[in-house]
Amino acid sequence: MKIPYGYLQRQFANPEAILAAIGDLVKRGALTLGEEVERFETAFAALIGVPHAVGVGSGTDALFLSLKALGIGHGDEVITAVNTFVATAGAIETAGARIRFVDCDETYVLDPRGLEAAITARTRAIMPVHYSGQPVDMTAIGAIAERHGLPIVEDACTAIDGARAGLRCGAWGRLAAFSLHPIKNLHVWGDGGVITTSSAELAAKLRLLRNHGMESRDVYAFYAYNSRLDALQAVVGTLLLPQVVAHTNRRCEIAARYDQAFRGLPGVELPQRNPGDRHVYHMYMMQVERRDELLAHLASRGISAKVHYPTPLHLQPASSHLGYREGDFPVAERQARRLLSLPAHPYLAEEEVERVVQEVGSFLRG
Ligand SMILES: *Cc1c(COP(=O)(O)O)cnc(C)c1O
Repeated sequence: MKIPYGYLQRQFANPEAILAAIGDLVKRGALTLGEEVERFETAFAALIGVPHAVGVGSGTDALFLSLKALGIGHGDEVITAVNTFVATAGAIETAGARIRFVDCDETYVLDPRGLEAAITARTRAIMPVHYSGQPVDMTAIGAIAERHGLPIVEDACTAIDGARAGLRCGAWGRLAAFSLHPIKNLHVWGDGGVITTSSAELAAKLRLLRNHGMESRDVYAFYAYNSRLDALQAVVGTLLLPQVVAHTNRRCEIAARYDQAFRGLPGVELPQRNPGDRHVYHMYMMQVERRDELLAHLASRGISAKVHYPTPLHLQPASSHLGYREGDFPVAERQARRLLSLPAHPYLAEEEVERVVQEVGSFLRG
């Protein structure tokens, strides 16, 4: 039995319905923006519970364009979590701003206790990451942001359908960025992204930012970018969107089974769970003392697990100009040596989940 970490081949074993919808679109020749993109944006906004969703070229662009919409650029600073995918930090630098990292906590997301110390006179935004699908502590971060008059841009790329304390991921910050990359919980057949907001003004500005600043064919409000969600990808997204809540529910079920099986076993540390959270388990992560040995053991049994990620961002070559050193973010550094992600996708059969439980369990019990 081979248990893959990814699932696209299983998901699209029979792609005919989607291919037919794409065929219709191609016959109509409506390949940029237009009604297919609007249809997807409307459905996405309804899912998140916000008035506006703007489709863009990728999750990274969704982050970058959000910062541009807030007027953030050179000389400004943006705070984010040090334990995130490279794109979060990349988007801040692409906007021209300086990155300020904050450590994570035992829920594996930005620790609000480190936030205030990172705020300076140049700080223009806070970009918390609902990393792995775990919603950040929006109440604590929101209170600090409000005290300092700072907007929040959520990196919700891995947190579609997530919520914490009744606050939905993507419906809480001034702006929120989602990714539709093929590995995300809702995705298209290539790159895509979405920005959500409650502000009609910011939504209108984003529609210009993504499309050359064009108010009409012949009037350009300002010079901008080309980062549109493809109409073809919007067709795919609209067809897949109705499945996302059921898929999240299945991910939650698998995660609960893993939690129950692994809690208390020697050499393993599960993240702190908050009962009120809707963690969407884009990744099921845990810390393991003999992590690399477990990885090799699982690989030898046909189970593909992953490490997200072995080197935290402040220790990457890309961060050398930021002046951070080893020891600056001890929680993220310790986790980076110990984190392991197990397959937890909705295309796993029950017997595959039990196989993972059994192989991880027998390794840990020695
Ligand atoms: C995937 C991801 C992004 C970037 O999304 P793309 O669509 O790949 O550009 C940004 N932040 C996080 C946390 C992500 O996981």
